[in-house]
Amino acid sequence: MARFESKIFGIDLGTTNTLVSYYDEIAKRGECCESKEGGSLTPSAVYFETADSYIVGRDAKDTAILYPDRTALYFKRLMGETKEAIDIGGTVYSPQQLSAFVLKKVVEDANEELEENIKDVVITVPAYFTSAAKQATKEAGVIAGLNVRDIIDEPCAALYHIDSIQDLSGKRVMIFDLGGGTLDLIAAEIRDNEINEIAIGGDTRLGGKDWDSMLQKSIRDRYLDGRTLRPDDEQDFENDVERTKISLTGKKESRFVLRNDAEKIQVKVTRAEFESCTKPLLDKVRKTVQMFMDELAERGISGFDKIIMVGGASRMPQINTMIRGMFPDTELLQKDCDEAVAKGAAVYAKRIAQKAKRFSVRQSFTPKKLNRISARSYGIAALLGDYGEKKICNMIFKSADLPASVSKKFYTSIDNQKKVNISVYETTATERYAELDDRMLLGNCELHIEGELPRRSEIIVDFNLRQDGTLTVEGREPKGKTSVRAVMESRALLNADELIEQKNTVNKLIMKE
Ligand code: AMP
Repeated sequence: MARFESKIFGIDLGTTNTLVSYYDEIAKRGECCESKEGGSLTPSAVYFETADSYIVGRDAKDTAILYPDRTALYFKRLMGETKEAIDIGGTVYSPQQLSAFVLKKVVEDANEELEENIKDVVITVPAYFTSAAKQATKEAGVIAGLNVRDIIDEPCAALYHIDSIQDLSGKRVMIFDLGGGTLDLIAAEIRDNEINEIAIGGDTRLGGKDWDSMLQKSIRDRYLDGRTLRPDDEQDFENDVERTKISLTGKKESRFVLRNDAEKIQVKVTRAEFESCTKPLLDKVRKTVQMFMDELAERGISGFDKIIMVGGASRMPQINTMIRGMFPDTELLQKDCDEAVAKGAAVYAKRIAQKAKRFSVRQSFTPKKLNRISARSYGIAALLGDYGEKKICNMIFKSADLPASVSKKFYTSIDNQKKVNISVYETTATERYAELDDRMLLGNCELHIEGELPRRSEIIVDFNLRQDGTLTVEGREPKGKTSVRAVMESRALLNADELIEQKNTVNKLIMKE
């Protein structure tokens, strides 16, 4: 039997690390590919060595302090928020392009190892990512020349991995995924042939990186007395702090030498000190989990059969202790923290391959069907009554089953109105009307009306939230002489021309080892 037959591969495109995976027909589970640098993790870092060449991975990450203006890190946090992540000599790269550089590198390494030509992939995204961020991830895949067959929530992918090594049928589980940049929570019920998502929560700006920053600050305050470090000393310092954080998972204290030019300072950090200086972050995690449980309690759900903990940062002992304290009677399962998401993406990819039947995939094991829900609510800004307050009128609600399609009638507010601005918002509100908040603006849809229409003429707004959590919005004026339509545009997403242009720019650059 061939080691892999499913020609759809998994990619965990992480804030800190990226991994490629395949479904191993012999082991009957997902496996990760090796990067050329060794190990399965490739740091999600891009260093622009010149205007025409770039380096991805460990070497790029290590140059971040020496050449901060030429190195891009943590750009996953910008996905769906902006088209402009870094300016290299007048060329502005989007978060999608930076992600594409990483995708190209990890796929090239995997191609070499597997002697393949990977094209079809499933990419994982944080469950709590916005719709625009999910769409931007698909765009990154396109720019990298990949055929993104689906995107799947990271915790769900982890669930597929765990379910492939121990059947979870009949269990209600929570997946707690604390990675380098994000905290993701999913509650799911697992049936014989199905995984049903029941709640999604988390914080897209809370991850291991934040523990690094707080520990750095505490050490600077204690040992540096306001002095700044030379760039290469700073680079070593940041790496040493992350290593210290990691070693404090197994040890009670850790030491390293802080170099500042000719000066050498012996730094000692105990686990108690680390936990004390990062306590606000632990409190943030507790609050997020509590909010998630409160939401479930409103729906009559109060506990789980199992909690699955994944993501590198979930290894920190204080996280484990906190979760044990919050769920004293629930079994915790911590397995394959770094690779579970990637491996599970390969299991899910096998399901897609089987469903498509385009590939000669054996039918011996069929991964479960995934029934998804919406992580957010979606609506448009509307006036309540003729002269009422402007609010967000939600059309699709958080936790709605996906795919979801909703059409709703709105009305023009003046005679002969020529333009209708449909502003689309994405929130966590669960009620029909929510307060306007421009930070939640997802995009706009501008409808130009031909002819003369009386006030209170109908405008139809169609929302279509796909299985993968990406949204399309259309506005229509159905009764005028010529019916017009407009599709939503977002400040952070690329139109067809921009996609081609950005792909060409990426392809022009040479990837260096
Ligand atoms: P991930 O996004 O799942 O790859 O997680 C990466 C994050 O996990 C980084 O912030 C790492 O520093 C952190 N991490 C990895 N291993 C450990 C460990 N043993 N203890 C604490 N943090 C860790």
